Amino acid sequence: MIYLDYGATTPIDPEVMETYIKTSSMFFANPTSLHQLGQKSNYQFGLAVKEIKEVLNLPNHDIVFTSNATEANNLALFGLAELQSKGRIITTRIEHASVYEVMHELEKKYEVIYLEADENGVIKMEDLKQACTKSTILVSIMWVNNVLGTIQPIREILSWLKDFPKVKVHVDIVQGLGKIHPDFPFSAIDVLTFSTHKLYGPKGIGGMLYKKGLVFQKRLFGSSAQYGIKPGTFDLSLVMATAKAIKKFHQAVDQHQTYMKELYFFLRTGLEKLPFVVINTPKEQITYYVMNISIPSIAGETIVHALEAKEIYVSTGSACSSKLKKPEKTIFSQTKDLIRSTSSIRISMSHLTTKEELQILLAALSEIGEKYG
Ligand code: PLP
Repeated sequence: MIYLDYGATTPIDPEVMETYIKTSSMFFANPTSLHQLGQKSNYQFGLAVKEIKEVLNLPNHDIVFTSNATEANNLALFGLAELQSKGRIITTRIEHASVYEVMHELEKKYEVIYLEADENGVIKMEDLKQACTKSTILVSIMWVNNVLGTIQPIREILSWLKDFPKVKVHVDIVQGLGKIHPDFPFSAIDVLTFSTHKLYGPKGIGGMLYKKGLVFQKRLFGSSAQYGIKPGTFDLSLVMATAKAIKKFHQAVDQHQTYMKELYFFLRTGLEKLPFVVINTPKEQITYYVMNISIPSIAGETIVHALEAKEIYVSTGSACSSKLKKPEKTIFSQTKDLIRSTSSIRISMSHLTTKEELQILLAALSEIGEKYG
């Protein structure tokens, strides 16, 4: 079995798993309980929060843990937008569905501007500058695109938005965290959202990190746990596992980067030899963890299943939209080509991936290209 769908989810790291298991048995009490056992859990919770903030250098941010990044994105975007009765929101055509679909909802009340990607899968600063007006209330642009692995110009965006101090900035860091270091301070962003299962942690937990004092329009009602933004009992084991995963993989970024670059170019060189393959992921401004390609004569779904028959697992785009037979919107925004965007697949790698696995993938693609092409 060759797993090349790490962008969809990752296996749990053994040390992260150990943290999860230990916490579940040692600190099962509810951290919001007033008694001693609860307070012991609460102390552990405080340690986990402190660790995440230290690792990401966010002394002036608070954290709210959610069930995943989808929930974090929903809470962040509705929470920020709905503080205002009207205004302009700027986002991109290449956001993950958990931002994009929220934006479609917000369109009912707000003016939403969608920035397109250029041929390198990156938004253009000129477009952002043009879109930004005095009525802008919110800008939500992802750090790393999940379909292409391209890095968006967050540093430049922040610099430009200095002249718009009232605009709130949300950045989805799901596909960048634990893969690359930011060239901007995380602390400059109003709200950052992440997901633990994308970085070798368990599913069922994600979160938002937001500037202390920032107010969100409430969407969930209940206890005062987690500042009332995400009320209800949370799983301390998932929180502890999140702290462990963020620490371990954020600190391993440099160590993994050289290897990932080597893997990426090994795969790219192999793909360039296959005449029926069009490579969508560019060579620069990328994480080296994702390679998106199209085989224009074959539907993306057909390629996925043909590879699956050989026990090689990739996806057509983000996992959440992979069942739809629509053009992949990021690839369409990048290429404006209907054929390329319905025949794309995403190969997403990890430090656990080997060149031997990629060699087998290349041979399989070669066979598929000959059979269907
Ligand atoms: N944001 C990005 C960029 C993603 O790639 C994903 C998942 O693929 C999400 C958000 C949603 O994450 P989750 O599955 O934790 O809801």
